[in-house]
Amino acid sequence: MNDLTQAHKIVLEQIKQACQIAQRDVQEVQLLAVSKTHPSEMLKAMYETGQRAFGENYLQEALDKIEQLQDLDIEWHFIGHVQRNKTKHLAEKFTWVHGVDRLIIAERLSSQRTAAQTPLNICLQVNIDAQDTKDGCQPTEVTELVTQISQLPHVRLRGLMVIPAPNNTQAFTDAKTLFERVKVQHAHPEDWDTLSMGMSSDMTEAIAAGSTMVRVGTALFGTRDYSK
Ligand SMILES: *Cc1c(COP(=O)(O)O)cnc(C)c1O
Repeated sequence: MNDLTQAHKIVLEQIKQACQIAQRDVQEVQLLAVSKTHPSEMLKAMYETGQRAFGENYLQEALDKIEQLQDLDIEWHFIGHVQRNKTKHLAEKFTWVHGVDRLIIAERLSSQRTAAQTPLNICLQVNIDAQDTKDGCQPTEVTELVTQISQLPHVRLRGLMVIPAPNNTQAFTDAKTLFERVKVQHAHPEDWDTLSMGMSSDMTEAIAAGSTMVRVGTALFGTRDYSK
């Protein structure tokens, strides 16, 4: 067994155990393989272990990989910061965008998604633990944003995405509470099924709190080298 196969197996086992502890069905939690900084060959090797959903943070890097791996049946997720002037590429090339945090971004994605494509799946990113960052809307804005974004025609608003500070498990619980509370605002509540939270170091805690999608990089691919 090669290293990636081994790592993939270990992470799936960790998810399974976390689900057992939390008394949740393992089918409720999806693994998103976060492949930023890693070369296409590594994604291909991970794909061969059966992994289909991959998450990327940097647009140009992601577009290059999408091009190089176009023969594979990969579900591409954009999990980085969404810049207003880059929405067209996201709308055209990805299946999911997790970092939507303003109405204008959702509107642009919806209008730039081509009619031939299925609606773009999006998550609303929330700054759940009041971090000093410009990413993510405020928890108080979520009600209004869900009401508005869920009415757009070419996006499907699937849920919330959070990136709390390390070791802040309370933030996961807060995200779950918010997720449950705002469902009634959604124009199509049956679409509201995704809580994107938990990374390599805290996926067990995130699953305990109700995560439905863990975004795992390091535990699958090893440490990242940003120097290249
Ligand atoms: C890089 C990244 C991850 C993966 O982090 P690891 O600690 O390597 O598992 C998950 N989510 C987002 C938004 C990221 O940028």
